[in-house]
Amino acid sequence: MSAPVAVLGGAFNPVHFGHIRSARELREQLGLAEVRLMPTGLPPHRPAPELSSERRAQLVRMAVENEPGLVCDERELHRPGPSYTIDSLTELRRELGPSRGLALVIGADVVAGLEQWRRWRELFDLAHLVIIGRPGYPALPERGPVAQWLLRHLSTDKGALRDSAGGVALRVELSPMNISATEIRAALAAGRCVRHLLPDPVWRHIQQHRWYAAGAATHVGGP
Ligand code: ATP
Repeated sequence: MSAPVAVLGGAFNPVHFGHIRSARELREQLGLAEVRLMPTGLPPHRPAPELSSERRAQLVRMAVENEPGLVCDERELHRPGPSYTIDSLTELRRELGPSRGLALVIGADVVAGLEQWRRWRELFDLAHLVIIGRPGYPALPERGPVAQWLLRHLSTDKGALRDSAGGVALRVELSPMNISATEIRAALAAGRCVRHLLPDPVWRHIQQHRWYAAGAATHVGGP
């Protein structure tokens, strides 16, 4: 059986070491063939980020360029309308065939809102769920429909990702990285240096183009 594939979706506004190092560690810990970083086009559950999806994807491409097994998956940029994860996983399942392990990775900050996602239960007919820790957030939701679902699907067997196509939930401990894109945007708008929080090519590109700088028009246009 081929090694499983994982998807880490997000706004990546901008991509940072919290994303890249988590993806790297996940690949090693879970023996994944690849981790696909998938920038959202139009997110259905939050306001559209000020930086266009093309620009956010451009930064993700730079961030994964020298990272073996990390890939920028741009499918949500090319689909019209809001980006629903169910559509992306349906496409990926078709591409990977019916039995290859596929995992949707989400941070502990996001898992609490999973019940708002379109057809969220069906996501796990298509893929496994991998929850990664995030400093400041509870390890797992304690109540609500997702907590109930987890009671039945949570496993400690990492091999399950390879042995079946989907339906298993894992909670994975990675090195905690207290970095968020919100904090990076705020620091850049205030003119503070964020070099230590981002891959170097991403940092240089943002600096060069004054993206996220106070007063800069980052919300218009393509790359
Ligand atoms: P923002 O601050 O704008 O909300 P973010 O830093 O949370 O952005 P996203 O692009 O929204 O970044 O995150 C994409 C995915 O990566 C989410 O599942 C999120 O939980 C996870 N993630 C982001 N930062 C970290 C981190 N430092 N450690 C672990 N997971 C993270």
